[in-house]
Amino acid sequence: MKPSYLIKPALDESYPEIDYGKGIFLFDKDGKKYLDAASGAVTANIGHGVPEIILAMHEQSKRVSFVYRSQFTSEAAEKLAEKLAEALPGDLNWSFFVNSGSEATETALKIAIQYWQEKGIKSKTKILSRWISYHGITLGALSMSGHPGRRARFVPLLEEFPSISPPYCYRCPYQSSAPECGYLCAMELEGAIKRIGSDHIAGFIAEPVIGAAGGAISPPKGYYETIKKICDENNILFIADEVMTGFGRTGPMLASEHWNVIPDIVALGKGMGAGYAPIAATVVSDHVMEPILNGSKSIMSGHTLSANPQSCATALAVLEYLENNKVLSDVESKSVYLKNKLVKLKNQFDFIGDVRGKGLLLGLEFVKLPGAKIPFERSMKLTELVVKSGRDHGILLYPAGAGLDGVSGDAVIIAPPLTITKREIDELITLLKATFIEVYRILGF
Ligand code: PLP
Repeated sequence: MKPSYLIKPALDESYPEIDYGKGIFLFDKDGKKYLDAASGAVTANIGHGVPEIILAMHEQSKRVSFVYRSQFTSEAAEKLAEKLAEALPGDLNWSFFVNSGSEATETALKIAIQYWQEKGIKSKTKILSRWISYHGITLGALSMSGHPGRRARFVPLLEEFPSISPPYCYRCPYQSSAPECGYLCAMELEGAIKRIGSDHIAGFIAEPVIGAAGGAISPPKGYYETIKKICDENNILFIADEVMTGFGRTGPMLASEHWNVIPDIVALGKGMGAGYAPIAATVVSDHVMEPILNGSKSIMSGHTLSANPQSCATALAVLEYLENNKVLSDVESKSVYLKNKLVKLKNQFDFIGDVRGKGLLLGLEFVKLPGAKIPFERSMKLTELVVKSGRDHGILLYPAGAGLDGVSGDAVIIAPPLTITKREIDELITLLKATFIEVYRILGF
């Protein structure tokens, strides 16, 4: 057996070895070129090999890469915290830096519980969430995830935090449509709070646009406004898991801004370091920090590598790159351009049942019988087939939906780097079309 590091062969045993990346492209050791239409795992938001980021990382490493957060702060961490507070809406002013999205949501859970404890309320320890959600792989984050597939092996170790229906309009659990539905899926939150008692609930967590668990499921207008109102009325903190949607993936810095909702706590990750360094953050609003600062003064969490200068300098460079190049101001027009082309593909390939998403976080859901929205049998592994055929044709797609939770359908996420040009979007569509022709051939359609 050849010694290796532990990876999961997601597609097959022939794992290509990447040599280098440039812009929206990756090149493997055999010289094959891949258009990264998924930014890896919706992470490489400004593409690969950006000179400004490489330079900033080099400059920081020449000074100091690591100091222990309990002994020292650093210019990089201070500047990043300051810039983030400026870039985020409302009073989201306090950053707690961690290393992964899972740590960011897990820290959000702990802060929500600590907040109520500092106010003298010890019974508020549950976090409510939604089905078809993914908040991370560590046990606290997985406890909040409405993702039966990923929970299955660890059920005895997980908290059974209650979940409500997601705003999955394509397969509405109430067979209705917004706004006539009166946001019944959001109203489920009120029902759950009544059932459990708000005295026991610290917070409600949601991904503003559902990522891997559902395939870029975006809620109807009015949904988050209703959710936030219910949280406020019941003394429950609203935690936005913006690990995938944050840092401009859908246009604004936070996707929550689309609905004019300012979360009490936000989890950031992925695009924050844009794949150049592991960094994530739990960002807390002034009003949540207040009792903590008046009480035990610090957040009861932390990791050895939290706020290390190397990762902070990288995230700072990413933030400055977004600003200097006005990257976010073009996301909406690129989104419209790409979405229109995806809708045209839907008209040519009727196994595409739904085109959805926000900004450059778009999703395609596949169905066997389009009119009736009948999904493919799971045994067909349609998502895996599409992703593998895509890779063979030189386009990287992010698998989502079915098999992961057994509820949502087969889906892929299309989330290229935000720096993609319109000409490159045309190229993406050409490769996607070739992929679908191949999938149709394999399926015998
Ligand atoms: N939250 C969301 C919405 C995610 O999409 C992910 C990862 O896919 C996570 C949390 C966990 O992040 P990480 O894989 O960096 O631990």
